[in-house]
Formats: sequence, C-alpha cells, structure tokens
Amino acid sequence: MTGSSIDRLIQLLAKLPGLGPRSARRAALYLIKRREAVLEPLARALADAAANIRVCSTCGNFDTVDPCPICADPKRDQTVICVVEEVADLWAMERTAAFRGRYHVLGGTLSALDGIGPDDLNIARLMARIAAGGVREVILATNATVDGQTTAHYITDRLAETGVTVSRLAHGMPMGAELDYLDDGTLTAALKARRPF
Ligand SMILES: [Zn+2]
Repeated sequence: MTGSSIDRLIQLLAKLPGLGPRSARRAALYLIKRREAVLEPLARALADAAANIRVCSTCGNFDTVDPCPICADPKRDQTVICVVEEVADLWAMERTAAFRGRYHVLGGTLSALDGIGPDDLNIARLMARIAAGGVREVILATNATVDGQTTAHYITDRLAETGVTVSRLAHGMPMGAELDYLDDGTLTAALKARRPF
C-alpha cells in the first residue's frame, strides 16, 4: 500500500510511548509533508543523539559528556545526593531549581512482579559513591508508588551502616490543593506527615 521507507517510519514511530498505529500514521504523514521544516532537522537530531548521547558513569544521567555537567559542576553540593528513579525525574527536579546537590539515577524500581532486583538497578554504583566518602546526606526521591517506596526502604537498609543521613521527599498536599479534590492516598499521606503549626 505504501513505500517501504514510509512503512518503516510508521512502524518505528508506533514504538514511541503514547503513539499507536493510527497516531503513528498521522505523525508520519505530518513529517513527510513538512520535510524541510521538521523531517530533515528531526532526522539530523536523531542521528546526532544516537552518535553522541551517553550515560554518565557517575550518576546515570544522559548527556554528551561523561561525567555529566551536573557531576562536573564544582558549584554543586557534593555532600548531598538525590536518588531518583529515572532521568525524567532528574529533569523534573532541575526544573524546580530548588536542589543544588548531585543526583543518582537508579534506572527503575525494584519490582517482584517484573522480576527486577537490586542488581538490575544502578545501586552498586550508589554504594560505591557513598563508600568513596564526602557524602553527608542521601535524599530518596523515588515515586510515591508501592515499587518506589519498596525501593526507598531497600536503599535505606543498605545505607544504614554507612552513617549518611537518609531523608525522603515529603508526601502531602500539593500547593493550592483543596481537600475535597485530593485522592484518599494523598490525603492520608498528608495527615500522617502533619507538622506542628
Ligand atoms: Zn552525572
């Protein structure tokens, strides 16, 4: 029905998160119709990304240099490491500009259901960073999901003997939230994490 290049483009686009076969066909046609404005720059950006992006051997961040600019920045606090599940979470933390320490990207969470154990995550490297010294606090910023919290507990146990302070993000009411609109889990967590006024 269509040329093999177009078929291949559609098949590959359909592998992207959030794109099914139908939206992949629409995206392919969009790209083909905007060859100079979108398709060709995108093709160059993809080739550039494939050739140059690497994983930071210290923290697991993605960048074109190793160590990544965050690990290499002498102005960032080396004594605090924020542990996140994915690079997307690191980006989210960076967008707030509220954290000036370093990161450690686990690459997922422990999951008995999916057969993901500690050796499948970037945990050994985290322990090595702590063992190297100079780290005072580890902030566990895993997601407030069952797997995220299981992972946080596991890392807390592993860090118990190292002497570093282990903290985690507060779970509570989002700014501007109204009680009536919160889900039960968020409201329960907010109540448990209440503080003196
Ligand atoms: Zn790094």
